[in-house]
Amino acid sequence: MRCSFVFGTASAKKVEVIWPMRLTILGSGTNVHPTRAASGYLVRTDHTMLLDFGPRTLTNLLKTGVNRHRITHFLFSHYHADHFSDFITYFFDAMIFTKYEGGTRPPLTVIGPRGTRKFFRTLFATLPGFTQAPFAVHFKEVADRAFMIGKTTVIPRTVTHTENLHCLGYRIEYGGKALAYSGDSQYCDNLVRLCGDTDLALLDCSFPASRPNPVHLHAGQCGQVAREAGVGQLVLSHFYPITDRYNVREQAGEAFGGKIVVGQDLMTIKL
Ligand SMILES: [Zn+2]
Ligand SMILES: [Zn+2]
Repeated sequence: MRCSFVFGTASAKKVEVIWPMRLTILGSGTNVHPTRAASGYLVRTDHTMLLDFGPRTLTNLLKTGVNRHRITHFLFSHYHADHFSDFITYFFDAMIFTKYEGGTRPPLTVIGPRGTRKFFRTLFATLPGFTQAPFAVHFKEVADRAFMIGKTTVIPRTVTHTENLHCLGYRIEYGGKALAYSGDSQYCDNLVRLCGDTDLALLDCSFPASRPNPVHLHAGQCGQVAREAGVGQLVLSHFYPITDRYNVREQAGEAFGGKIVVGQDLMTIKL
């Protein structure tokens, strides 16, 4: 007869906290940056999804330990290369994995702004082999209407970036928590609305307040958006190299009294 004894009481057991949402910054920099990868964020709810997929973020994705072949949804804010280019490397790898290495993967869904289908049609027709992937690939163009990924609600909203680009910010809600991602954005009402009462706002902080740029937020404006939207915490990201020389936390803090996090690659924030 085999006996087992359990010592201790129920109250001594470690209580496991379930976090509905986890955000991992894969890249907090921009296109060419000496120490930071470009834009890319891993969001884990009941699904694992990527928000943008810029250069060097794939290397950081490997470091998270997440199985890249199980990721199903890729959400793009716009197609500036600093938000997109590692998708090409990722997709080529997925084809080799499924064609030659005996691997399988679930269908892959690409979600993005107006023009997404045309963009990928051209890209896939041009890159050798990309139209012959042995797994399903879906493309979905979204505008300002909410949709579901499993039990996760995604609300895209058009933000103002450059004159001739359609750029989306995304709000993601799951398990009573909400985060908003600005994509690349200037200060605009839609961005404040997107971030309204979220637990976390992840904002384009390309430049310091003293070196503003017309198509991006600067640190002071990030603080302003966070205050006006009443967010729980502000995460600053998408830093150009010059921005690392300034105290962006202090600059954002002049407008926003809540928690401010200066983004770093591979930082995970649990909600
Ligand atoms: Zn951009
Ligand atoms: Zn950008």
